[in-house]
Amino acid sequence: MDFNDTPEEAVFRAEARAFLDEYATRDDIRPPGERETRETFLARAKRWQKLKYEHGWACTHWPSEYGGRSATPMQRVIWGQEESRYNVPTSPFLIGLGMCAPTLMSHATEEQKRQLLPRMASGEEIWCQLFSEPAGGSDLANLQTRAERDGDDWVINGQKIWTSGAHYSDYGILVTRSDPTVPKHQGLTFFFLDMRSAGIATRPIKQISGYSNFNEVFFTDVRIPDAQRLGGVGDGWKVSITTLMNERLATGDANGAGVQDILKLAQSIDIEGVPAIRDTAVRAKIADWYCRAAGLKYTKARVVSALSRGDTPGPENSIAKIVSAGMLQDIGTFGLDLLDMGGILTDPGRAPFDGIFYDAYMRGPAMRIAGGTDEILRNIIAERVLGLPQDLRVDKDIPFNEVPQGNRS
Ligand SMILES: Cc1cc2nc3c(=O)[nH]c(=O)nc-3n(C[C@H](O)[C@H](O)[C@H](O)COP(=O)(O)OP(=O)(O)OC[C@H]3O[C@@H](n4cnc5c(N)ncnc54)[C@H](O)[C@@H]3O)c2cc1C
Repeated sequence: MDFNDTPEEAVFRAEARAFLDEYATRDDIRPPGERETRETFLARAKRWQKLKYEHGWACTHWPSEYGGRSATPMQRVIWGQEESRYNVPTSPFLIGLGMCAPTLMSHATEEQKRQLLPRMASGEEIWCQLFSEPAGGSDLANLQTRAERDGDDWVINGQKIWTSGAHYSDYGILVTRSDPTVPKHQGLTFFFLDMRSAGIATRPIKQISGYSNFNEVFFTDVRIPDAQRLGGVGDGWKVSITTLMNERLATGDANGAGVQDILKLAQSIDIEGVPAIRDTAVRAKIADWYCRAAGLKYTKARVVSALSRGDTPGPENSIAKIVSAGMLQDIGTFGLDLLDMGGILTDPGRAPFDGIFYDAYMRGPAMRIAGGTDEILRNIIAERVLGLPQDLRVDKDIPFNEVPQGNRS
């Protein structure tokens, strides 16, 4: 591929940089270098999203009537490349903008899109994804949350888990079982709902890091108007696929400590009086990560090439997540080993290298699970990229209520 911008792309990149140079470097957008509360972080993130929206840089590829600027796929990539150079708070919007919005664009009514999408683009409202359940994670179609029709409403009972941001979200997308008498993929129905609806109880899960980023969400006789159904009754699997395909694109790389960071650490630290970078084992590890990072860079370049030709990138996107999440965990672990006692410090203001190796060590395992585990992504690559035989799926054609399940209520 040609790595240079076309003249039009160069103009777009310069415009993006001018905006970012002016606004993304302000003190209230950069993190203050110490742990902040969830409330202050959310407030900063909302301010940044609103600023982008007001200047035409939010959701660049969305149609302008929904709050975007109808940018081309390449312009979207360029904006992403430029914004990622700055320390700006974007994470609370990843699920809403990256996954819920494309699902609404494909399946909501025109009126719903015009009402909901601009409020999402401007950061006014945050959305979450209510998919995973205790018995429905990798095997999402095994979910048990029930939806029963009652007049113009549906009544929802059940439980979701690992719902990122549910405790501060305004809306959510929800997949439920509306017909247990047909095989599992056929009896699902999909909705969007107000997270303040009566009957929703959200319980944050405390993580090893001390933060609570995700939740258990319980539904007791929650009523959702039928008008908030996305797709047909029983078509929830098809709608979920729209979300999951976009999840692969939205999740992208696991960001954090990388090969350049571990190289700098090895250059700056001694092992028994000798710089770590002189140690053969240390050099071999860094060389291996360097090769992986280069492979990742060129694999992603193929995806960008596909976009610039107007093609839709396929399941190859799974490769970026699988490689980057594994590297994040390995680099974090090795960084803490090299730092010895210094690795115990976690305060970004005081810890060596701002605590990035500790952060990678803590986040790496979660990144290897979120948005598809390593094993599931390997299955996708094996089946859909390499064309290998399919995984065994013995319950695929059996009515859901005839499949034995220990914990079904
Ligand atoms: C940080 C984070 C954020 C998340 N946010 C959300 C969210 O916002 N909304 C949401 O709905 N969910 C969310 N999740 C949940 C996530 O989607 C699930 O954790 C994931 O799909 C795995 O499901 P599970 O945890 O039930 O594990 P399981 O599916 O029970 O898997 C357990 C183990 O078995 C392996 N396994 C399962 N099936 C196979 C197979 N066929 N072949 C080989 N190995 C297999 C898995 O790889 C894994 O190692 C989040 C998870 C994390 C870590």
